[in-house]
Amino acid sequence: MLRLVCASANPDKVAEVRAILGGVVDLLPRPPDVPAVVEDAATLEGNARLKAAAIVAATGQPAVADDTGLEVGALDGAPGVFSARYAGEGVTYADNRARLLAELVDAEDRRARFRTVALVRWPDGSEVVAEGACDGTITTVERGARGFGYDAVFVPDDGDGRTFAEMTDDEKHALSHRGRAFRALVTALGRP
Ligand code: IMP
Repeated sequence: MLRLVCASANPDKVAEVRAILGGVVDLLPRPPDVPAVVEDAATLEGNARLKAAAIVAATGQPAVADDTGLEVGALDGAPGVFSARYAGEGVTYADNRARLLAELVDAEDRRARFRTVALVRWPDGSEVVAEGACDGTITTVERGARGFGYDAVFVPDDGDGRTFAEMTDDEKHALSHRGRAFRALVTALGRP
C-alpha cells in the first residue's frame, strides 16, 4: 500500500482524509515536531504545496496535503484562500461562520463553491495534483451540529437540502469537495 505522511495537523480534516483514503493509502500522522507552515501562497495549490514540501523536507518521505477554500459569488470569491482566517487571526470556526452570515445578510445571491486541491509530493520533487469542487448555497441561519468549519451554513446542490453539518460523515464525503479531490487523487495515482 502507498505510504504517505499526512501534512495536516487538523484532526477534523485528518479524520475525513483517512476515511476517504482508507484501504488505498497508509496515512502516517504528521510528526508533531515539524513546525506549523505559514500558508501564505496566493492559491490553494500553492498552500497545499507549501504544506507537503515542509513534511517531505522534515521526514524524507512522500507526503499528502490539501487546501480548501469557500468561494462565495456575492463576495467576489471571498473568503477563498483566506477561509481559515476570514474573521481574523486565531479565530474559531464559529467566528468565521458569523462573519460570513453577516456579510451576506442582504444578499439575494447566496451561491457558493467549496474547492479543494489535494497534492502528493515525493522527495525528488515530483507531484500528483487533483482538485474537487462542490457547488451549493449559504443558509441564512446555521443548521446542524456535525462537521466543522463552514459546514453548518453550506447546503450542497447535489444533496437533499440539508447542510453538511446535518449529514453523516459518509453522506458528506460522497458529495464533498474533499471527497471528490481525494478520489480524483487516488485515480491520478493509478490506484483502484
Ligand atoms: P484548510 O486550509 O484546508 O484547512 O481550510 C481552510 C478553512 O476552510 C478551514 O479552516 C475551514 O474553516 C474551511 N473548511 C475546509 N474544509 C471544510 C469543509 O469540508 N467544510 C467546512 N469548512 C471547511
